[in-house]
Amino acid sequence: MNGEIIETEKALVSAMEPIFLGIFEGIKAYVEGDILGEGRHNIFQWKPHIDRLWHSANVHGLKIKYTKDELLEATKETLKKNGFKTNVYIQPRIWPKAGTGRSRYAPGEFYVVIPTWLFDTRLGKGNPRFSEERRFMVSSWRRIASDALPPQAKCWANYANSGLATREAIRNGYDGAIFLDFRGFVCEGTGACLATVRNGKVITPPVTASILESVTRSTFLEFIPEDLGIPVEVRDITRVELYSSDEAFLHGTGGEVTPITSVDDIEIGDEYPGPITTKIAEYYSEVLAGNVEKRKGWLTPV
Ligand code: PMP
Repeated sequence: MNGEIIETEKALVSAMEPIFLGIFEGIKAYVEGDILGEGRHNIFQWKPHIDRLWHSANVHGLKIKYTKDELLEATKETLKKNGFKTNVYIQPRIWPKAGTGRSRYAPGEFYVVIPTWLFDTRLGKGNPRFSEERRFMVSSWRRIASDALPPQAKCWANYANSGLATREAIRNGYDGAIFLDFRGFVCEGTGACLATVRNGKVITPPVTASILESVTRSTFLEFIPEDLGIPVEVRDITRVELYSSDEAFLHGTGGEVTPITSVDDIEIGDEYPGPITTKIAEYYSEVLAGNVEKRKGWLTPV
């Protein structure tokens, strides 16, 4: 936090700080060789994540007082000092400091904090968490529009929109929500992007559909056609197309690959999890573990 490694319980911020105006990133470091095992870590897609942190900061008027390389070194040091042995979540956060600059919206000083913690992966060979059933509903809440609160910048305030949709889904007995965008096309989940599979092709909405420019999505758009030979298409998806997909899955750093069992109680496809979703998740697990030579460039050793 602000250049020092400190224990979680001592990483304190005053209740007066407008932390909801802050921005953040969600990054993961996976264990090399076997992500269900123990060992040394590689950070996945550090560069696009840290570049997006800078874009988010620019959009929301925050300045990061360290260089990208300094944040990488700080992150590595934090992971080492923690002595983590299994997969780690890394969430750099930048917050404005109250009473600095011209206004809380144009602050002069900032907090930089890089919390890290362990998480349970859904990926990896034979992981039973991957095939757990997950029932979704299309939310009655629309995703925040790009000309209102841009979903492309990872600001905490965006997640109030996700909260509305998630609570609505829980109240109605579902596991999660899928947003439509302001035009009524399929958008994304509350914290992950969405893809469908129809007739052997993976389809995902464009960045203009009020989605976050997801690092996982970009990764998938690259390796699915190039490494797995499965065609991909980026285009708007209608609600009915989603219902009549052969497969559908969410993808993002946090939830990794989340197969969708049903949407609005309509079962998706004949098989759950679907064969293409499973193939993508299995290959992704190998990429994350550093077992795919041509994709090692996506990993930064700790
Ligand atoms: N959409 C939203 C709203 C998210 O919060 C996330 C997670 N950061 C994603 C999509 C997936 O993005 P990424 O693949 O970069 O984690």
